[in-house]
Amino acid sequence: RLAAWHSGLRAEFPIITRHPELAYLDSAATAQKPRAVLDAVQEYLTTSNANAGRGTYPWANRTTAIIEGTRNRVKAFLDDPSPDTSEVHFTSGTTEGLRLVALDWLVHQLRDGDEIIVPSADHQANISPWHEAVEVLARQGTGVTVRAMPYQLSSGDYDTEALAGLVSSRTRFVAATHVHHVYGGDMNVHRIRRTVGPDVTICLDAAQSVGHLPVSMKALDVDFVAFSGHKALALPGSGALWSRNARGTPLTPRGWNGTPNTVGVASLDAALEWLERAGLERVEEWTVRLAARLTDGLRALPPYEVLGCQRSLAADSPVQQRHGIVTFRHRAIDSVDLGFILFSHGFMVRTDGLCQGGAGGSRSSVRVSLHVYNSREEVDRLLGVLADLA
Ligand code: PMP
Repeated sequence: RLAAWHSGLRAEFPIITRHPELAYLDSAATAQKPRAVLDAVQEYLTTSNANAGRGTYPWANRTTAIIEGTRNRVKAFLDDPSPDTSEVHFTSGTTEGLRLVALDWLVHQLRDGDEIIVPSADHQANISPWHEAVEVLARQGTGVTVRAMPYQLSSGDYDTEALAGLVSSRTRFVAATHVHHVYGGDMNVHRIRRTVGPDVTICLDAAQSVGHLPVSMKALDVDFVAFSGHKALALPGSGALWSRNARGTPLTPRGWNGTPNTVGVASLDAALEWLERAGLERVEEWTVRLAARLTDGLRALPPYEVLGCQRSLAADSPVQQRHGIVTFRHRAIDSVDLGFILFSHGFMVRTDGLCQGGAGGSRSSVRVSLHVYNSREEVDRLLGVLADLA
């Protein structure tokens, strides 16, 4: 069933079909684009390219309509049923979205003695903005305490029991990551609301989840969702920050204040439409299965160590769900060398520190990250090459 669904999809990515000798396995860094996105960009630039504006001429009106339409598409994509109490701001990616929350919003919310809880071993983009915000406040004489989000090593996600022990009446804000960019683990963010209570603002880094699996602000009950369009099949330089405005001061909508990245927005609209059509449940199932296949294969090869508590999807294991990211190292071959060896066989993987903050950042490793265009054949071929090096 899944194989039949997948058989036509891979052919929709021109860069993939153009290079049959190569296997792109670095989608956590950025994703490839389906023809529908390339066509939408071409269509926009050849029929409507203008700045957004109101009511003066058709190209500007179409540009405005695309921007407004994409705002609504992002809301629907995030399962947001309340268009009046939420906002979508177009950004250049997750980094900008999180920085907006930290430096345009959070700094205006916090008072002396408040506490925030933020990650220490996630992507750097979801660590440094919170500390910067606290430094800005400290310079103004406002003291805010930063607590480190606790992790549980056994399953590789957040430890919500320990989190409960950190929450106090002064806790105002929690930052979390939906899917970890090194380990692919679902960080159990659906448990955070229950743990911190209704009054704490929750900001989600959804860089590795939006576009890969269904993301529902309703189910997760969060207040901010930042994601990168370019990791969700849209153009580089596109992204969005969704915010629920029910709590505190809304972010000022920036779209009308300067020239928005209209081409990026048009590409995001087409990318999300493509993903809706493909079906996010199936995209998720496909990449999770490929990742599990790779993990199981690596486990059978003794020189490789799979990082981050990866468990197989064997029927009887109490599975901590892993998404399409598998990070590993060879016990004897340096990871950067391994990256070069793999590329000599056509595999494009990520090596090195992987932008991870905290303790895990310095250890060298190889990351394979998958998207809908990857195939079982690519994973098996990769395992064959890795076995030859074992
Ligand atoms: N957060 C996570 C979890 C990521 O994986 C990434 C990108 N690797 C980012 C944030 C930053 O995304 P961008 O570069 O698109 O701003």
